[in-house]
Amino acid sequence: MTKGTVLVTGASGYIAGFIIKDLIAGGWAVRGTIRSLAKADAVRASLGLTADQLPLMAADLTADPGWNEAAAGCDFVQHIASPLPTGAVRTDDDLIIPARDGALRLLRAAKAGGVKRVVMTSSVAAMYYGMAGKDRTYNEANWSDLTAPTTNAYAKSKTIAERAARDWVAAEGSGMEYCTINPALVLGPVLGTDFSGSLAVVTKLLGGELPGLPAIGFGICDVRDIAAAHIAAMTTPGIDGGRFLCSGDYLAMADVAAILKSRLADQAKRVPTLRLPNFLVRLSALFDPEIKLVIPELGRTRVADSSHARAVIGWNPRPAAETIVDTARSLIAAGLVKG
Ligand code: NAP
Repeated sequence: MTKGTVLVTGASGYIAGFIIKDLIAGGWAVRGTIRSLAKADAVRASLGLTADQLPLMAADLTADPGWNEAAAGCDFVQHIASPLPTGAVRTDDDLIIPARDGALRLLRAAKAGGVKRVVMTSSVAAMYYGMAGKDRTYNEANWSDLTAPTTNAYAKSKTIAERAARDWVAAEGSGMEYCTINPALVLGPVLGTDFSGSLAVVTKLLGGELPGLPAIGFGICDVRDIAAAHIAAMTTPGIDGGRFLCSGDYLAMADVAAILKSRLADQAKRVPTLRLPNFLVRLSALFDPEIKLVIPELGRTRVADSSHARAVIGWNPRPAAETIVDTARSLIAAGLVKG
């Protein structure tokens, strides 16, 4: 006897893998969507699950087929699928259209299928961008400014998708609850070889792929704590419409490098110590579109206030230093750091 059935979208993804494992361990029946069933065996193998434990169905965010069948009869949905770029993108619409239209497809299917609550993974990217002031604290009242030139394609996709989903639920979703988890940079151990682009910060530092440390930083959260936040947002009563910013400690890139150096000794020998002056980063950005993406972050501190998530869904993140060390050890053990 299970507690109920949960649909997890984007079951091939990094965060989704931890949510699936925790849901099953917690007594829920889980089904997942993936873009193509060709990945099904690899997804189950990376999670150590059988086809009985994790039925997978094909559904692409950009097309209608599969969504109704996937959501039919589920009690809850964890809507996690959304494109996460590893670098510069061709056009903003490459991210915006799947993120927004996919969320709407999922919501329509969930409502038709009798789902009680949808938890959607949004992001701090839907909160942080285009605000004046270099050193700011952010909370759930903030929305990224879509008109600001510094709001990148990913931030637009997450802002537009979350707004469109909230508008749809307000207009058409009566009887179905909705809330979002808005994580900062998600790091942590890996379950297989297919992991999120967000871990690039650690893989590039460990692999000696960065000449130095730009003056940027991140709110860091652990994938295990983000999985817990999603499950708490699914089961906590009375939080319809909730928006939960989940970020642990804020660390500068130089702090991340120092933690790796001090805790991993020789395994961190390629991690740079040189702090790159902003003018040099700006100059490099003229030739490298990936570096151009970090220019608006230079010298900026974005501190997140996660007190709402702590108070309402009992979120209790671990220290960022622990997450960084666990990320690095896991990547090294899996042979995923360039030698
Ligand atoms: P990920 O491993 O890249 O997972 C993204 C998932 O979305 C994958 O399962 C991917 O499927 C799926 N997807 C992308 N485009 C799709 C499409 N057109 N149709 C169907 N599925 C599609 O990244 P992640 O870090 O776990 O991200 C999961 C969610 O968390 C995303 O909504 C992301 O915006 C959000 N988030 C992530 C972070 C972070 O730091 N990682 C922070 C805040 C929010 P394929 O395997 O087929 O590509």
